[in-house]
Amino acid sequence: MILLKSLTIVKLGGSVITHKDATPPKLNDTNLARIAKELKTHSGELIIVLGGGAHGHQAAHLHGYANPNSPKDQLLKGIPPIRHNMSNLSSSVESYLNREGIPAVVISPFTTVTLKNGMIHSYPTNIIKKSIESELVVVTHGDVCFDIERAASILSGDTIAVYLAKELNAGKVLIGTDVDGVLDDNPKINPSAKHIPLINQENKEIILSKTGPSTNTDVTGGMSKKLTELLELSKQDKEIIIFNLTVPGRLELLLRNEPTICTRIQS
Ligand code: ADP
Repeated sequence: MILLKSLTIVKLGGSVITHKDATPPKLNDTNLARIAKELKTHSGELIIVLGGGAHGHQAAHLHGYANPNSPKDQLLKGIPPIRHNMSNLSSSVESYLNREGIPAVVISPFTTVTLKNGMIHSYPTNIIKKSIESELVVVTHGDVCFDIERAASILSGDTIAVYLAKELNAGKVLIGTDVDGVLDDNPKINPSAKHIPLINQENKEIILSKTGPSTNTDVTGGMSKKLTELLELSKQDKEIIIFNLTVPGRLELLLRNEPTICTRIQS
């Protein structure tokens, strides 16, 4: 088994690859075409994780996934529309990547992952490992999954990125979103919020208290949940970076280990 310091995991934030508040859900074609070109510059093992954006969060909201007390039959009725939207999104991204010559294949969590109270209960990775060994680029995504306590729950792209990074021992995790990383306040609400280039043991508590939910429709927790999960991951020796994927060129620089504006997370 090849596991896998050379593996890079790139999360494409739903706020970047879709127009997050568009109804019906709409891809951000301009960003996707550019991101595919930036990803093409990478050589080495790669997993791409998609956030749900407009395709995931709106349908999830509509079918009660933001409310822990929603009845099971309401949640189960939400599975087909959420799956349909996420299949469409991931298949569109796969097409953008394939057109650039990236050998991308979609592997959807719904078909193998189970959750328990929203946490990962079982997540087989044999096909993901086999795909990487076969020099394919795996595309996976936030999804609705069966939950052994609550009928069904949402598995977020951020949680997937962290889980796969641990499980496959990835060397680098790049979390692309629509802000410059972590700031000392939500920049969408406070335009004079200050950028934080490094989060470590010394400043993590104070910064966690200043991160909050997304300002878009989002059932998975925004920046505060992202950061909590990434801080846990940072106990392992990895490069972990949150960066602004809406700014052309930053992903390519980070893939090449060159400096750019971002937030690094270290233990
Ligand atoms: P994505 O869809 O890209 O995964 P999210 O919308 O889930 O991104 O999370 C990013 C959002 O978190 C930002 O757009 C911002 O509105 C919000 N946020 C809240 N607090 C902060 C903070 N302190 N620093 C940066 N972003 C923050």
